[in-house]
Amino acid sequence: MANLKLSHIYKVYDNGHKAVNDFSIDIADREFIVFVGPSGCGKSTTLRMIAGLETITAGDLFIGDTLVNDMEPKDRDIAMVFQSYALYPHMSVYENMAFGLRNRKMPEAEIKERVMKAAKMLDIVDYLDRKPKQMSGGQRQRVALGRALVRDPKVFLLDEPLSNLDAKLRATMRAEITALHKSLNTTFIYVTHDQVEAMTMGTRIVVMKLGYVQQIDTPMNLYNSPYNKFVAGFIGTPQMNFFDVTLKRDGDKVAVTFANGDVICVPYEAVSKIDGGYLDGSVHVTFGIRPEHIDISGDGEGLKFVVTGIERLGNETIVYGKLGDNQGEYTMKDEGNGIIVKLIDRDDISVGDVVYAQPKAAKLHFFDAETEITLMHKIPLYNTVAAVLGGGKLGTLGTETALPAAIAKYVSEGAVDLIVPPEAIVKGADFRLRAAKIEDVDGKKLAYLQNGDHYLFALVGDDVSEGDDYGFSILFDKITVKANGEELASPISDEVSLEGRFTKKETREDGERVLRFFYNVAGYAIEADKENGYKINSIDKDHCYDYTYRYVIDREKIRTANDGEAGLDVTVLEELDYGNAKYAKVRTGDGQEFLIKAEGDVPEKLRLAFDGSDVSVYSTRIDMKLC
Ligand code: ADP
Repeated sequence: MANLKLSHIYKVYDNGHKAVNDFSIDIADREFIVFVGPSGCGKSTTLRMIAGLETITAGDLFIGDTLVNDMEPKDRDIAMVFQSYALYPHMSVYENMAFGLRNRKMPEAEIKERVMKAAKMLDIVDYLDRKPKQMSGGQRQRVALGRALVRDPKVFLLDEPLSNLDAKLRATMRAEITALHKSLNTTFIYVTHDQVEAMTMGTRIVVMKLGYVQQIDTPMNLYNSPYNKFVAGFIGTPQMNFFDVTLKRDGDKVAVTFANGDVICVPYEAVSKIDGGYLDGSVHVTFGIRPEHIDISGDGEGLKFVVTGIERLGNETIVYGKLGDNQGEYTMKDEGNGIIVKLIDRDDISVGDVVYAQPKAAKLHFFDAETEITLMHKIPLYNTVAAVLGGGKLGTLGTETALPAAIAKYVSEGAVDLIVPPEAIVKGADFRLRAAKIEDVDGKKLAYLQNGDHYLFALVGDDVSEGDDYGFSILFDKITVKANGEELASPISDEVSLEGRFTKKETREDGERVLRFFYNVAGYAIEADKENGYKINSIDKDHCYDYTYRYVIDREKIRTANDGEAGLDVTVLEELDYGNAKYAKVRTGDGQEFLIKAEGDVPEKLRLAFDGSDVSVYSTRIDMKLC
């Protein structure tokens, strides 16, 4: 039994190929985690790093509370089951299962007890005297599982264990492995490229693509709320239908216009989380709808298509079609033009019929055409709010407030758009809107604040109820200001990024050699945590003293140096007053500019200081966090 923690794990192979990027997950004890994704996405590499069969380039791996990056595989208390079974052909099933335990010098009696127990669980007691080649693929995989089981490991790692089995056996073994997980109460990590295995077995699934984690979620959340088009298309069979469309709002309806000119209408309420910027009919977006979320009728309502193929699978009917009423040759589903519909208990549709598809309003998906990220986040990423500036005032949301000086520097007159993330809306006295609806989203309270005919989304506390007038302020340092689509002011992040070298110093203390490491920024040497110093050494080897690194630090952790203390000398360039927060823009001796929090009067010259333990280190050569 064990929990695992992967923190910013990277794998760069010796040939320079980055197979795994910034993989982080907290795995609770007894979870069944599945890594899924197409071939080459880095699933096995990650699993092998957990097993200790592959070195970790950067990042920390904890099993329980122990950092195991440098621990030998045999000491990690992990058992791995491979696709290839990896059984010893000359040994009997019993011997195969007992082998690892004998190596550990376990008493024969206990070995026997463990092997028999596992054999019973896996229903292979009758085969214990056989050699692997006298057994079927499914039986062999059971032996491989048994060999892992007898070790009673903290964590089970399974790498595509069922992919050599036929479809029927796979289904049986899926159920058996799930049952095994339940009865063992151990943490399982399972790698597969098969989304059906992932969906049926995992308590949580990690979807990967090209070395990057796309989404980590429960099977149902992946299905219902895919983060991007890739996840949407990967999970579910037949695949989600995708269409290039534009959206135009008209009152309580939104017209969805397809590439061929066809239009369907969906209720505004179903897409109210999509930012208004996408609803003016000018922006191309990707519309996604699963085959099982489409109704078909012949009455002229909906998206017209010709039925080009039908698969009847008993109660389920898969209908293939082509948009429009063109009767030409068409066999393959072709993105943008083809459509697949899954119907239950319908046998009134035939090839050649012209019918109408009606997507279910509660099941619509929309993705940004370029980033492919969903436009329907459970908590919207931002709100676009129109504002008018003039006379030192900012007029928006039915009120006028003082125009923050820092924004006035960029724009002080005319119409602008404020891009306001929900986190930038806090309880306060500047604005007031009615909370038309409050939704519980993963433990957070999302308020739909009625702003004219659309919503402003904000996160609110438990004291706010539906129907309440909510008084709030906007954190102007956390918003973007745009005029005519051009970004004039951008949000200020919580972190400061500085570049500099990495150095070491050897000293002798009480006759002992002591090695100390430093982050050097514009002449200020910040002592690094020793552990991090060694990490940088182990990742970049001797080159680490020649490279430039990016040092990232929480702005709140930067303070003014005490009298006589070493520090980073900066010149103050300007002060930025956002109303809710004040900053000073400063410049280092080597020309790096950044913002610090400013309180009261800011002198022209400052000496800043911060602790090495608060610094995160990034490579400037490849996109990688070192520590
Ligand atoms: P998956 O298990 O998802 O199919 P892998 O983790 O096996 O993917 O591989 C991820 C990527 O790393 C692939 O592009 C693969 O070619 C590459 N790769 C795997 N092993 C090595 C290696 N030893 N050296 C260089 N590249 C490798």
